[in-house]
Amino acid sequence: MVYETAFYDILGVQPNCTPDELKKAYRKLALKYHPDKNPNEGEKFKQISMAYEVLSDPEKKAIYDEGGEAAIKQGAGGGSGFHSPMDIFHMFFNSPFSGRKSERRTSNLIHTLGVTLEELYTGTKRKMTLQKNIICESCEGIGGKRGAAQKCAPCRGTGVVTKVQKIAPGLVQQCEERCRQCRGMGETIDDKDRCKECNGRKTVRVRKLIQVDVLKGMVDEQRIILKGEGDQEPDHQPGDIVLVLEEKPHPVFKRNGHDLIAQIQLQISEALCGFQKVIKTLDGRDLVIQSYPGEVVKHLSTKCVMGEGMPLLQMPEEKGRLIIQFSVQFPDSLPVEIVPEIRKCLPSPPQEPVPEDAEEVVMMHFTAEQYQKASEEDAGNDDRDSDRFHHGGERVHMQTCNTS
Ligand SMILES: [Zn+2]
Ligand SMILES: [Zn+2]
Repeated sequence: MVYETAFYDILGVQPNCTPDELKKAYRKLALKYHPDKNPNEGEKFKQISMAYEVLSDPEKKAIYDEGGEAAIKQGAGGGSGFHSPMDIFHMFFNSPFSGRKSERRTSNLIHTLGVTLEELYTGTKRKMTLQKNIICESCEGIGGKRGAAQKCAPCRGTGVVTKVQKIAPGLVQQCEERCRQCRGMGETIDDKDRCKECNGRKTVRVRKLIQVDVLKGMVDEQRIILKGEGDQEPDHQPGDIVLVLEEKPHPVFKRNGHDLIAQIQLQISEALCGFQKVIKTLDGRDLVIQSYPGEVVKHLSTKCVMGEGMPLLQMPEEKGRLIIQFSVQFPDSLPVEIVPEIRKCLPSPPQEPVPEDAEEVVMMHFTAEQYQKASEEDAGNDDRDSDRFHHGGERVHMQTCNTS
C-alpha cells in the first residue's frame, strides 16, 4: 500500500508500474503539455515533471510511497531541491533513444526586434510570433513506429560518411560529410512505418508566440537571450532564441550612451533677446527651458539638463543628461532703414583702416558643400597649391562658382 497516489494519477500509471511504463507515460504527457505546444498548461507541465522526477528516482519514490508529497517536499528542503520542468524535459529527451551522450545543440535562432527610443526609455513588453521546430508529439520524437528505425547502412548509424577524393596523382584527401541517405540522423525508417505527422523528421514546425521584456535603458544591438527556447531535436540540447534590438531613429532625440541630444532652433531675436521652449520627453512630459534675462545664446552652443537623459540599464531610476544644442537661424536680409537702429544696440566693431590703393572685389555665393568639394579636389594636387588657395596672399584667387 502506498500513502497517496496523486503523482501516479498525474502520470496515469499504477503504483506498481515498470520504469518503462513510467517513461512512456512521461514522454507522452510532457510532449502534450510542453509550453511550446500548450502555453496555458504550465501548471500541469510542472506537476508532470515533478511527479516523474520523484517516481523515476528509486530513493525519492520510496519516500513518496511512505509519506506522500509532504514527505518529499520536507526532504528536498521545501521543494527547492527539484529540477526545473524544462531541465527534466531536456534531460529526458537529450539521449533517450540512441544512448549516445550528446553535447550537441541545435543552432540558435536569431531575430531582429525593432524598438523605438520611447520603448527603450520606458521599457515595454513586446509580443512576437516565431517559427520553431519541436519534437513531434505523434511519434514522440522517434520518427515512426517504435522499433521501425533501422540503422542506416551507408553511414553505419553515425550520420556521417567519409569521402576519399583524389586531389593529385597518388595524393588523396579524406573528408567527412553528412550522410545523404539518412540526412545525418544515422537511421532510416521504412515508408510504411514513417510518422505521418512529421514524415519521419521527428520534429514539426510550429508558430510560437513569445513575450519579450524590453528593459529601461537597453541599447541598440543589445541581445536578449531566451535560453533553451530554440529548435528542439532528439539527441540535442535546444539552442537559444536570440533577439537583437534595433533602435529606430527618433525625430527629436539622438542618443549618445546615457545622454540624449536634442537640437533646438532659435530665431536670432530669441538668441539675442531671450526664449522659452517646451521639450516633450520620451515618456510624454513637457519640460520648459528658457534663457536668463540678458543672456545671448550662440549658434551651435550647448547646454544640458541633468537627469533627463536615458535611464541606466542597471539602475533605471538614474538617468543620463539631456544635451541641448542650439541652432540659431539668421535672417537672409534686414530692411535697410532699421540697420542703423540695430547697430546702435550692438557692440561697435573695431575700425579697420583701408589703404589708398586697395582693390575692391566682389564676393560670390559659395556654399559649404562647394568649399568641401574644392578642398577634396585640391587634396589631390600638391601641397603648395592648396596653401595658396587657403591663404590667398596678395594675389586674389577667385573661383568661378555657380550660385545656387
Ligand atoms: Zn512524428
Ligand atoms: Zn546514414
